[in-house]
Amino acid sequence: MLYRPEAFEQLTDEPWNEQRVRAAIRRIIADVDAAYDVDGLWPADDWDGWQATLPLKNLYVGAAGVIWALDALRRRGHAETQIDLAAAAVRTLAAFRDAPDFIAAFELPPSPEAALLTGETGILLVAWRLARADDLEGDLLTRVRENLANDAGDLMWGIPGTLLAARAMAEWTGEQRWRDACRDSTEALWQERDPNGFWSQHLYGSAYRGLGPAHGVAGNVLTLLDAIDEKRRTRLTNETAALLAREAVVQGGLANWPTHAGDDLVAEDGEIRVQWCSGAPGIVVCAASYLEEELLTAGAELAWTAGPPGVEKGSGICHGTAGNGYAFLKLFARSGDERWLERARRFAVHALEQVERRVTAATRSGPAISASSFLPPTVSTGAAHIPSSRPGTNEQLRRRRCRARVRVPVPRRRTRGRAAPDASAAT
Ligand SMILES: [Zn+2]
Repeated sequence: MLYRPEAFEQLTDEPWNEQRVRAAIRRIIADVDAAYDVDGLWPADDWDGWQATLPLKNLYVGAAGVIWALDALRRRGHAETQIDLAAAAVRTLAAFRDAPDFIAAFELPPSPEAALLTGETGILLVAWRLARADDLEGDLLTRVRENLANDAGDLMWGIPGTLLAARAMAEWTGEQRWRDACRDSTEALWQERDPNGFWSQHLYGSAYRGLGPAHGVAGNVLTLLDAIDEKRRTRLTNETAALLAREAVVQGGLANWPTHAGDDLVAEDGEIRVQWCSGAPGIVVCAASYLEEELLTAGAELAWTAGPPGVEKGSGICHGTAGNGYAFLKLFARSGDERWLERARRFAVHALEQVERRVTAATRSGPAISASSFLPPTVSTGAAHIPSSRPGTNEQLRRRRCRARVRVPVPRRRTRGRAAPDASAAT
């Protein structure tokens, strides 16, 4: 079995209608504007806010992610927020420095403040993009360089995340110091790659070899593809395509992947994940440019066959309908087959319905809605997370979050190679 049918719901019959979708985006942005508070930022979803100091500030599920999405939608002409985004971003940074929102129950990696998705780096990146102050740029560069010594080995906390931040800054500023930061981050990440093609993730007191975008090889490779020369890129994509083919579980024209290399699809909690951060959709999204097309298609076919994730997972990118629909868009880009565009649009309409259902339910029962989970799939830029209309006990919440568990013992490196940067290998 490649998925659990009971975890998914029936796809909506509502057809794609561009005007209806554009109006829904504007309505959601108006709701996000209305939910904003200068001091409280946005209310947190129960799952997102578990064991964290509120309000949530980070790029992953907090205010920085909401601000980033509002800015992206504005720049692309989809919707105009009424919030002063530069002021909100600076306020978010101050709030994080006053009370970081790390999950208290987790053992944090080294330099947690340097993390892109969960630390200060992502917040600084958003703040600089909007406020353009020299001190923000200096602080961001300090965080990116600080993270060169972080062996978390993943996008959320480690060097892949700060490599993305450095590349964005190099593009926006054209400054040599950011090109240098890209080069050094690229080399450090390359050095961390094991001879077997994996990276070892060292997270929350565990060590393992992850496969997916947020904590694994597929995400790490994607961050490197545009930062390395042709020779390295060919080697990296060939070796990773072979590795992902070995780890795939293929049945009847469908494919899925476990969260960690060598694991069963059925996780400790009994779930089989088919979502962005774990399972076929995230692999398809990250490896769309280099994975063998038949396998890529089998991964996307699984997400289509399973249908949209149910209410427990919701509409967001990490675990929900958005992330799975995103895989269809990537396969459309790879293959040019319009059937995948059509399927992506079907999922997008379904995700909008899920958001609207959630708003209706919240209005009836009263609980606050997280601004981060408000943003629907095709609208947000990646910050939307798991909405929950049925919060459980802390233990239930803990088990439901996507996080590392010990599976494959991996020795922690004692010495960390930091080879002299090779200017020819990075851009
Ligand atoms: Zn996740």
